Amino acid sequence: MGKVAGIDLGTTFSAISILNENGKPEIIKNNEGSYLTASVVAFPSDQEGICIVGEMARDHLELEPNRVIKEVKRDMGTDKTYSLAGTEHTPQGISSIILKKLFKDAEKQVGKIDSAVVTVPANFREQARQSTLKAAEEAGINVQFIIDEPTAAALHYATSNKISGTVMIYDLGGGTFDVTIATVLGKDIKVITSVGSQNTGGTDIDKILLDKIKKNYKEKFNSDLVSSNNDRNEFYYTNESEKIKKALSVKEKHKAIIKGNEGAITIEFTKEEFERDIGTLIADTEGLIEEALDEAKDKGIKIDDIKNILLVGGSTRIPAVSKMLKKKFNKDPLTGVNVDEAIA
Ligand code: ADP
Ligand code: MG
Repeated sequence: MGKVAGIDLGTTFSAISILNENGKPEIIKNNEGSYLTASVVAFPSDQEGICIVGEMARDHLELEPNRVIKEVKRDMGTDKTYSLAGTEHTPQGISSIILKKLFKDAEKQVGKIDSAVVTVPANFREQARQSTLKAAEEAGINVQFIIDEPTAAALHYATSNKISGTVMIYDLGGGTFDVTIATVLGKDIKVITSVGSQNTGGTDIDKILLDKIKKNYKEKFNSDLVSSNNDRNEFYYTNESEKIKKALSVKEKHKAIIKGNEGAITIEFTKEEFERDIGTLIADTEGLIEEALDEAKDKGIKIDDIKNILLVGGSTRIPAVSKMLKKKFNKDPLTGVNVDEAIA
């Protein structure tokens, strides 16, 4: 049998793995040496006909935001288009560009890949699934199956942690949140119910921090941080916010120097205050867990039947997530897998 890839085409980040000789998936680095590739495509104005994909495209947001397309996954299967310098792009077309980069970069590392399994959210509609499939085909990928993201993640946990029975998969990524209740029997995984929110994720958290930075800046200089006479734009400060957020996943306090047009301010962020600020967002995910539990109840599953909670998505690195889950379910969620690589 030829080489088989697993592809997680995420809203904000994507990843690809290859099954090794022992039948174990291994995440493959992209040409820039990263395991995750930003799901962003840029068309720089000074390089006509060229597009860049991934982290460099994400960085391009700071230079020419109107030349960058991101978060197309939200629009898969719709007739939305993005017009950029006179050209119309479709979500499928942009997805295809991202998939092609993932695939070609991986082939550079491991040689020819014969086929792939591509994941989609459990609650993706049929049109969005078909569009994902077509995007992969356009990228020259021979797709074996489209499977649900929570199924892929549960399979990964099941093969690395020996779990079985009813599980809950809590996936908090960059742009979306999904909670899925599933049963695991060996390698057989059945989704019982899956609910989600298209506008709850890490980027919302970055926005909360950014608003705080803007407020502090305004108080000190009586001038807006992001304005037409500042070379640094909203995306620059969003990146700063994301760095602060990641620091607060590992530290109690974090000091950041924010440079603006009028001067710099030093802001000290504390984890305690951060947790208060994201309280509503975390509570929203808890509300969706309740919804999933209600739906599962109709199918004969009670909260006590949930044997394991599986964390998926980069934003589950935020300690407040595990804290909330532990309080609610009276047990620690499972750790020990790379949350942003589990699906791939
Ligand atoms: P996707 O939604 O595309 O599936 P991921 O699951 O990779 O994306 O999650 C990406 C999100 O995870 C981003 O918002 C990123 O800032 C966030 N993230 C990654 N690492 C951390 C961390 N250590 N602490 C907090 N958030 C993180
Ligand atoms: Mg994801």
